[in-house]
Amino acid sequence: MRYLILSDIHANLEALQAVLADTPPASVDRVLVLGDLVGYGPDPNAVTDCIRALPHASVIRGNHDKVAAGLEPPLRFNHLARHAIDWTASSLTTDNQTYLRALPRGPLVVDDLIEICHGTPFDEDVYVVDYREAGRALLRTSRPVCLFGHTHVVAAFRLQDGVAQHAGGRTMGPAELTLTTPGTWLVNCGSVGQPRDGDWRAAFGVVDTDARVVALRRVPYAVAETQAKMRAAGLPDPLADRLSAGH
Ligand code: ZN
Repeated sequence: MRYLILSDIHANLEALQAVLADTPPASVDRVLVLGDLVGYGPDPNAVTDCIRALPHASVIRGNHDKVAAGLEPPLRFNHLARHAIDWTASSLTTDNQTYLRALPRGPLVVDDLIEICHGTPFDEDVYVVDYREAGRALLRTSRPVCLFGHTHVVAAFRLQDGVAQHAGGRTMGPAELTLTTPGTWLVNCGSVGQPRDGDWRAAFGVVDTDARVVALRRVPYAVAETQAKMRAAGLPDPLADRLSAGH
């Protein structure tokens, strides 16, 4: 099976369209969406419509989705994220808000090899930024490969003999991870719509379960167009500026 992995799209339609043009959903068996369809970006409805229209997709919610859908107050958001989520909640159609509200919380088991979550398998809001959190997360996975998002940073960790190790990512990573090495894997393919690892291009993944390979992909998109839409919508300038900086 081949899966297209999308996470943290954050209402960035140009980035999502660039990814889907590079790897059309029809070219894979299933699209896996790891949450945060909306928040920060200027196109929450168009992005949600696009995901809803995918023929074969498994979608879980992210922390921005649940706040935008009114399931939780934005207590953990900084003032920029709070401004954007208020704008998002008031911009979403009732239909899309209902859809986001009904999205399942991860982890979600996809098959014998793969499960997906937003932050970690034990808490969707926890950030895996180093091997310590990775170790906690790896001990709670139910499959050999757990795909996660939330940090917007490409990263891979591996648990072997009870020890979590950094196994790839922005500075040390290969563009492909081969998962044949023994151990349990925790892999973040990065953020489609707001990368924070110094590379502004949309990040996503393609998993081939037969070859046990995760391809970590990047594609450029019309970032200036997204930024212009954000400014026109009155979204905070720093949120627009960060897109082209990739942080
Ligand atoms: Zn996010």
